[in-house]
Amino acid sequence: MTNNLRVTFLGTGTSQGIPIIGSTHPVCLSNNPKDKRLRVSVLLSWDGYNYVIDCGPDFRQQMLTQQVNHLDGILYTHEHSDHTAGLDDIRPFFFRQGNIPIYAHNRVVKSLKKRFDYIFQEKNKYPGAPTVDVNLIADNKPFQIGDKEVIPINVLHNKLQVFGFRIGDFTYLTDVKSITPKEMKKIKGSKVVVVNALRIEPHISHFNLEEALAFIREISPEKAYLTHISHLLGFHDEVEKILPNNVHLAYDNLTITI
Ligand SMILES: [Zn+2]
Repeated sequence: MTNNLRVTFLGTGTSQGIPIIGSTHPVCLSNNPKDKRLRVSVLLSWDGYNYVIDCGPDFRQQMLTQQVNHLDGILYTHEHSDHTAGLDDIRPFFFRQGNIPIYAHNRVVKSLKKRFDYIFQEKNKYPGAPTVDVNLIADNKPFQIGDKEVIPINVLHNKLQVFGFRIGDFTYLTDVKSITPKEMKKIKGSKVVVVNALRIEPHISHFNLEEALAFIREISPEKAYLTHISHLLGFHDEVEKILPNNVHLAYDNLTITI
């Protein structure tokens, strides 16, 4: 066990994943495992701690693939389904460990309460339903997970507030379209940055490749990884060739140590 942060990409795809059901797009038909992308999430591990950022519809498969048998908590970026729909599948962790801590904006917790009302029910709760301990993330207020400090970063996904997270030299951002100079300051100095790059063409609520690369140039980390990728970005191996030396496409099950 080590105090170094290990980040495993559990999923690196956009909301429909790659392949898209029924699609005959060449990237969706690719046999390269790096072109198969589950919904976006990362596992943060150190010293026996395991946390995930987001808990989308592929959460169960991701936990099985990475053989995660203990979960210390879930950090939510925002409430969209590709980041939250897997919450029911915390049941095996809940049965073994008890209440599972979640960390989220108040607005995200309200949304989870609507969509997973039975999880938050206090009276006559169904015995098979899991229970979470809610930790609200306040804007600009760092919080602890295990023995590490997390700095929340406020970004915008079109008009929706989304949290990015900085842990030491590592910053994780997804579903970003714009970042204010004040929030950029919180990211500066990170050695490793993960950021979303949807496709080549512009999009209303996501960085395209050009915007993601401009953001990376401004931060100038030692290494950057792109995630939340759509089939329209192209084949993994082709896109990788045109990226700057310090920038890589993330792919499912890639692990990096910071
Ligand atoms: Zn998303």
